Amino acid sequence: MSTIISTTGLTKLYGRKPALVDVNLEVPTGVVFGYLGPNGAGKTTTIRLLVGLMRPTRGSATIGGADIVRARSAAQRHIGYLPGEFVGYPDLTAEQYLRYLANLRGGVDDKVRRRLIERLGLDPTVRIGAMSHGNRQKVGIVQAFMSEPDLLVLDEPTSGLDPLVQREFHTLIHEAKSAGSTVFLSSHVLSEVQEVADMVGILRQGRLVEVRAIDELTARPLRHIDLVFAGAAPDLDRLRHINGVRSVHHNTKGVHVELEGSTAALLRAVAPFEVIDIVSHEPDLEDIFLNYYG
Ligand code: ATP
Repeated sequence: MSTIISTTGLTKLYGRKPALVDVNLEVPTGVVFGYLGPNGAGKTTTIRLLVGLMRPTRGSATIGGADIVRARSAAQRHIGYLPGEFVGYPDLTAEQYLRYLANLRGGVDDKVRRRLIERLGLDPTVRIGAMSHGNRQKVGIVQAFMSEPDLLVLDEPTSGLDPLVQREFHTLIHEAKSAGSTVFLSSHVLSEVQEVADMVGILRQGRLVEVRAIDELTARPLRHIDLVFAGAAPDLDRLRHINGVRSVHHNTKGVHVELEGSTAALLRAVAPFEVIDIVSHEPDLEDIFLNYYG
């Protein structure tokens, strides 16, 4: 599998303050990569380095084999970029702005641009400066996607979008992937990342602490089980000593158990009590994410 983004020891200091430290990352061509981390972890810093808006303090990176510093223009040619706070040109209408960019970049299919505007429900006749945050974000999405780039780099792309537009946006991501593009997106919305991404990278205080396929991350054998009893619940201390049980506590409905492995012993232990409901869920990205930040 080829690699579209490759970083080696990528580091950025603001003054003396490290924002990104020794990041080694390989993003395979054709995947949707979710870049996660709490506020201030260094996501935007990474993205601004990759798209050539800043230079690294140390280390290096390539996009499609082109070095982000030495071959900046060649690296940028692969990229469609949506900044975290997209502003555009406030005095132009969306139509004027998008046409201007399309002419500047060249190679933008007019039909693709118009279709994106239509699908996102954007009114292209409105001045960007007079738009709501969500509508301005749509202009940002159109300009990132309209050149059908090899690599979409999207910083918090769904911020401000309503749920219907978010859904359309997810379809755009799936389509871009099917057409062979790679998508690198940062997000705080874990359910969204779980829905669209194939892989995630987790940043913590400027360091990359995990890179994994989503399936691998969520396939950990830890399960959450909610048990609801008609009458008295069993003694929690007894449940705690059952094989595989990691934790037990009361919640609003009954008893919540975290369990690794088979449920057989737990079910035997609760069978003498009148169980009226059992709900078992796999850990989602949110549980995993919270585990990293504890
Ligand atoms: P968020 O989720 O809040 O957008 P982030 O993960 O994108 O956060 P960055 O914006 O990359 O984080 O910031 C990483 C660190 O670098 C933070 O501590 C931030 O305060 C600091 N930082 C970012 N930009 C600058 C700057 N221009 N000058 C000084 N420090 C900065």
